[in-house]
Formats: sequence, structure tokens, C-alpha cells
Amino acid sequence: MSSRIKLLPDSVANQIAAGEVVNRPASVVKELMENAVDAGAKSVTLNFRDGGRELIQIKDDGCGMTPQDARMAFERHATSKIASVEDIYTLMTFGFRGEALASIAAVAQVEMHTRTDDQELGTQIIIDGGTFRGQNAVAAPGGTQIWIRNLFYNVPARKKFLDKGSTESAHIISEFQRVALAHPDVAFQLFRDDAPLYNLPAGSLHQRVVGIVGKAAAPKLLEVSVQTSIARVRGFIGRPESARQRIREQFLFVNGRFFKSTFFHKAIIQAYEKLIPATVQPPYFLYLEVDPDGIDVNVHPQKTEVKFSDQSAVWQIINAAVKETLAKSGAVPMMDFDTADRLEIPVLDARTHTYHTPVREPAVVRTPDYNPFTDYKTSTASHTHERSEIDLSREISAQPEPRTLHEEPAGFSHITPLGEGYAVALFGTRFVAIDLRRAREAMLFERLEKMLQNGHSATQQLLFPERMALSADDAGLLKDHSEEFAALGFDIRSAGEHSIEIAGTPPDTPLETLDEVIYEMLDSLRDGTFSGETARRQRLAAVMAHAGASAAKTAKLTATELETLLKAFGDAGTPAYTPAGKRTMTEITIEEIKNKL
Ligand code: ADP
Ligand code: MG
Repeated sequence: MSSRIKLLPDSVANQIAAGEVVNRPASVVKELMENAVDAGAKSVTLNFRDGGRELIQIKDDGCGMTPQDARMAFERHATSKIASVEDIYTLMTFGFRGEALASIAAVAQVEMHTRTDDQELGTQIIIDGGTFRGQNAVAAPGGTQIWIRNLFYNVPARKKFLDKGSTESAHIISEFQRVALAHPDVAFQLFRDDAPLYNLPAGSLHQRVVGIVGKAAAPKLLEVSVQTSIARVRGFIGRPESARQRIREQFLFVNGRFFKSTFFHKAIIQAYEKLIPATVQPPYFLYLEVDPDGIDVNVHPQKTEVKFSDQSAVWQIINAAVKETLAKSGAVPMMDFDTADRLEIPVLDARTHTYHTPVREPAVVRTPDYNPFTDYKTSTASHTHERSEIDLSREISAQPEPRTLHEEPAGFSHITPLGEGYAVALFGTRFVAIDLRRAREAMLFERLEKMLQNGHSATQQLLFPERMALSADDAGLLKDHSEEFAALGFDIRSAGEHSIEIAGTPPDTPLETLDEVIYEMLDSLRDGTFSGETARRQRLAAVMAHAGASAAKTAKLTATELETLLKAFGDAGTPAYTPAGKRTMTEITIEEIKNKL
């Protein structure tokens, strides 16, 4: 009996692999566009006919390929992007499996013209259904141009499963939008059946988003910009009135990569609760930036899911960012959200040095232009700073400015302590209740964070240095992180084996419980659910802020103490949340008063 096991010919293996990489015209578009971006293109043009079945044509002005590389590019597992498995984890490019071109060529008729800068003549490659037809020298512009004709012509079964032309077109357009939104610095053009559909010049994120939604929709966009210790969220969301029943413009990106998440989608939609009926949804374009160690990008080319190690904290941050943005815009009265159903991020228990629930990174949400405690100039300055970061075009600043408290008549002089750690204040016509302990915690955190950012720590030298005996484990941990402690303002010296002497601390560190604070900080270093130096330092700052605020007196403040605290709170940017995600203040609205009477 002859043996039954045979190796598949390459052409068959490629066809099978193709099913995974290219299951429809839109996935071809995705692969080709990402290759162009990876090649450093400044301008990418795409054209497709009959939903991509007849033709997908792409042209870029990227680095191009040498004749050898042009031929190699169509081999399976041929890639210039990684050399070893480790590279996958430090990946900055999109493709890396070296499968796309080989797979596409296995199921279509492909022609490519490519030329590198230092070559006079370009290279033409022709491949039909995985069969190499020829390689010639051709005159070609710098960069790469590829024609994919008659996709799936040799895989009738798959061809039959393609949806009608219009559906495939819609998929291609979404794929084009995703790539274009991820790279505002690259110019993109899209043609459908040779007619122009999008012309997106390179520009700012705002210009790119407007390019996608159209000029008419631009005034309905609100800018989101929030920085916390574990994630940065920026981008745009639609005003409540822009919500529609069928909405395609909902995009999430993490570290420059498009991804889908029903979980985070809910974080956004929930923030619009009570503002829009449940039957409609707003557009959004949100860009998250997190420590790359904190996410797991699925390496499968057709999967758009991303795993986050800090899921619920990121959920909180997105939700809060959207709420704040809506609040600042005047779409809803400032802080008129009910707090009862808010998920709170667990807090450190100062007595037991443990967290109440699995540890989450603190979420801090700032409202840079909401500051009743400083004068107009200061608030405007921080406002401008925050916005200039993402290079907004004139269009958005020409919109009516969001309604913020500092536009109201000045005269914030009526601060009244309520006792039990609360105060109320009248600002213009708005009445705000402040949790003084939380306000202090948020203020201390902001202060420490700013110091960490500037690299200028403040240290108060102790008259009588504190001695502490540590376990070998703790001593080792402290030694490993001595730079972080120093950056926060600690002056810690070794005093024999496993003993330390604390000669100085950051201001506002409670000296009575200094050892507890140090233990808490070591605990938070040990737990290791966060990564990256910045996140670690912020975590330490959060522990200190919490300890500092818990130790400080809040119950019976004198008028001067109250004023000093609120002034410092204002100077810190009037943070709306503590690092543990608790609100520092809330507005008491006329509505609420009416409801009570
Ligand atoms: P991958 O992108 O995973 O490396 P592909 O099959 O998509 O695999 O591409 C194979 C190789 O061909 C790439 O690694 C790259 O070197 C080269 N290549 C593909 N497209 C382009 C392009 N538009 N410009 C320059 N080089 C390209
Ligand atoms: Mg690729």
C-alpha cells in the first residue's frame, strides 16, 4: 500500500491560508493599505470596482521594493518586519506574518509595479492564482502600485459567498476609514468605480475626523482629551443631537490600532444615558493610549479584538471622559450626573494596607477649564494648553465655546463649611458641594504628579529622622525602587541591614503614620498589576495622596484653612475625581431642589 500522506503543493497551501487572511475584498484593502503605511507612504490612493471583485488598485509613495524584494514579497512567510518571535511583542508595524501578499496572489490576478528611490527603473511582477508569470523592468514612480483583479476567480466557492456589490463596497469603505483615521498624517484618497469618494489631505486628527464625517457634521463634534495614569483618551464624540438610529461612525483605536469592543462601546453609550433615547447612538472616534504591556493584540489578521489587562479601569476612564466632555459642552449641566450607579474604583484601605477589591489603577479625570477657585486667566491658560496638544484646527475653535463655570460672573467668595468634611460654595448662579477630604487627596495627587513630570521634587527634611526596620523582601523592593521614592521627594538612607533612615519626606506626608505610608507604597509596588515607570510612580503618588488626605484634618477647618485648601485645589486644576475615581464635588441643581420641594 502506498503512503497516503502527501505534502500540499505551495499553491494549495497558499489558497487555504488565503481563506484566513483574505476572506473578502475589504480584507485585501486592509492588508494593502497597512502595507503602504508600513512602507512609510505619505500619500495612498485606492480605487475599487464592483465591490472589489473586478479590481482593487492601490498606489503609494512609500519606500518601494528592490527587484529581489519584489519577488520575495509574494513568498509565504516573507516579511521585512520581523526576524524572530520576540519581535512580535515589540511590533510597531501592522503586518508581520508575511502572509498577505502571498495569500492575495493565490486567489487573484496580481500585478505590481514598484521602485525604490535609489533605482532608476522599477520592477513589474505578474502572478496569477499563485502562479508566477513574469518579472520585468518597467518605468515606475517611486513607491508601489498594485492591481488585484478578479478576486477569488479560482475559488468559485468563496466567490459565491461574497455579498452583493454594495455590501462589499460598504465593507471596503469602512476599512478605508479605519486606516485613514488611524493615520491622519498620511494623505488618503478613495475612488469607487473610478469616481472620487474621499480626498483626505494629511493634517490634524480633527481635520481627518471632519474629512470622514463631512464638513456639515463638524460642529456636532466635541473634543475629548483626558489623561490618566493608565490611559490617555482623546478624539471626538458627537453631540447628543447627532445620534442616529443607524450609525456607522463609531471607531475605537488603541495605540494607533483600530479595534472593536462591545464592552467599551457600552462605556460610551452609557455616558449618554438620559441624553438620548435608547434607540439612537452617537458617533465617536476615540483614541486610547495605554502602556503596550497592558494590552494583548490578537495576532490574527482578521481579528479586531484587543485584550486589556486593566479592562474595568479603562472602562471607567472612557465613561468618565465622555461624561466630562458632554458636561463641559453644556450638553448637560456640569456634574449633573447621578453618582449612585457609578462604578467606583476600589480604594486602598489605609488600616489594613489592602485593597477592598482586586487592585485597579487609579483613574483621574481632570476638568482643565473648570476651575471656580482660580481666576479666569489661569483657567484659560490651562485650557489652551490642553487643546494645543492635539493641534486643533480653526474650525473647532470657531464653534461656540463650551459652557464652563469660569464664564459666569466672578465672585466666588461664599464658601461655607458644612461640617463633617463638606463645604458648599456659590459660584455665579451655581451651587457646588465639595468633599474636602477628596478634594485634598486629588489636590495632593495632582501636585505630586506635576512634580514627577517636572522632575522637581520637594523634600521636607525631618528634624528627627525616622528609623524603620524592614523585612528582607521589603528592603529589596525599596532598593529596587529607590529612584521612584527619591523622585517623589523622599530622602531615604540605608541604616544597616534591612534598616532604613528616613531623613526627609515630600511635604504633606503624615509623619505620625510614616511607616504605614511606606508599607502601603511597597505593597502597591509588589502587586504589579500595572507596568511602566510612569504608571508606577503615579501609583505611589496616589498612595501618598490618599495617606496625606486621610491624615489631614477636614472636619473642623477654620475659614483660613478652608480657603487655603480650596485655593490649592483650584491651583491643582480643580480635579473632578480622586486618583481612586471618586468625585470631589457635585453641583446641586435647581432641578434637584425643585424635586425636593
Ligand atoms: P507583512 O506585511 O506581514 O510583512 P505582506 O505579505 O503584507 O507581509 O508583505 C510582505 C513584504 O512585502 C513586507 O514585509 C514588505 O517588505 C513588502 N511590501 C509589501 N507591500 C509593500 C509596499 N506597499 N511598499 C513596500 N514594501 C512592501
Ligand atoms: Mg502586510
